[in-house]
Amino acid sequence: MQGTLEKIALITGANKGIGFEVARQLGKAGCVVLLGARNPALGEDAASKLRNQGLEAQFIELDLRRRETIQEAAGFIGSKFQRLDILVNNAGIADLAADGPPSTADIEAVQRIIQTNFLGTLAVTQAMLPLLRKSESGRVVNVSSGLGSLTRNGQPDWDFASYTLLGYSASKAALNMLTVQLAFELRDTPIKVNSAEPGYTATDLNHHRGHQTVEEGAAETVRLALLPQDGPTGGFFQTDSGVPW
Ligand code: NAP
Repeated sequence: MQGTLEKIALITGANKGIGFEVARQLGKAGCVVLLGARNPALGEDAASKLRNQGLEAQFIELDLRRRETIQEAAGFIGSKFQRLDILVNNAGIADLAADGPPSTADIEAVQRIIQTNFLGTLAVTQAMLPLLRKSESGRVVNVSSGLGSLTRNGQPDWDFASYTLLGYSASKAALNMLTVQLAFELRDTPIKVNSAEPGYTATDLNHHRGHQTVEEGAAETVRLALLPQDGPTGGFFQTDSGVPW
């Protein structure tokens, strides 16, 4: 009976920041956590920290820019667990120096960001989908951002209206489109697909300028990863309330 087994969860970019904390919280909730990381030493170190806390954690090499690592990760999970219950698409980059407003954002930086945050995440999702389909209750959480909300960006009085990072924001808007279209495609399956807005969280991504702790930043993603079968799909959420697209 699959329902009585531990859930198998893969978190990309799990060696630090919000991803590591999501892995820790999912491990505490009883999941077997697979920590995706592009740097094997950092990934092994993160997984061993969680094992030292008594959690079932394992490192998997996974670089969103290297397709062969994505295929190998899917092959490994398939042969070891035969399914995947939770995919947390957390890995992402920003470039606060070279990215910027539409008039000046460096095109190569924009390309790099979209390649990682959107195309890399799409590649991971496509590779893991056959395994998610084998789960009784597959969940995909795309770690998006309020900066990816077209509605919020269109409101001049929004707190972050001046944070014009075209590449980063466009990558998250595109990620939100993946959420909506994948949820529609999977509407007749048990798989739920949602976007999470962590809120402004102190991590390396923003040179620790965020005002939230990683515990706070991880909470909504964890909630969406553990949604019950009557939970929502195709939505965009921040601390349990909807975010406008
Ligand atoms: P972080 O501490 O910089 O962590 C980012 C993670 O992504 C790291 O593990 C990093 O690995 C990994 N990563 C980057 N490029 C990768 C690639 N090509 N392949 C695999 N992994 C890669 O940042 P964070 O704040 O925790 O960000 C996590 C997610 O939350 C991101 O998607 C971010 O956009 C989103 N988010 C953050 C905030 C915030 O305020 N912090 C707000 C909204 C959304 P390395 O250590 O090897 O670089």
